Amino acid sequence: MNDCIFCKIIAGEIPSSKVYEDEEILIFKDIQPIAPIHLLCVAKEHFAYLSDLDEARATLLGRTLKKIGELKDSLGLGEGYRVVINQGENAGQTVHHLHLHLLGGTTLPWG
Ligand code: AMP
Ligand code: ZN
Repeated sequence: MNDCIFCKIIAGEIPSSKVYEDEEILIFKDIQPIAPIHLLCVAKEHFAYLSDLDEARATLLGRTLKKIGELKDSLGLGEGYRVVINQGENAGQTVHHLHLHLLGGTTLPWG
């Protein structure tokens, strides 16, 4: 996926502010934050959409959510956080490599 910006970030080909990395996932700062803490969590495997999950990817996503919970204090999200996945055009998805937005650092408005 040589035209995917997040694959390039994962490969270290373009810079990012990384905050966590393991063999499966990378978490880095969103370049245009909409909350005091706005991180992006990506799987290192390229796939575009939440609707592209198969059994293995669903298991990976579950592990990813578990890992985020384990990391919440070190990520500055111990007081609470919101996980957002934008799926497709109507949700405003602009990068077609599945990513979780992690929002926190303040009381987040709802509704
Ligand atoms: P989405 O609209 O859900 O596809 O979100 C894509 C997100 O990627 C946006 O919040 C962008 O600000 C963010 N983004 C795009 N390019 C970069 C980059 N090079 N480094 C960090 N975040 C980025
Ligand atoms: Zn990618």
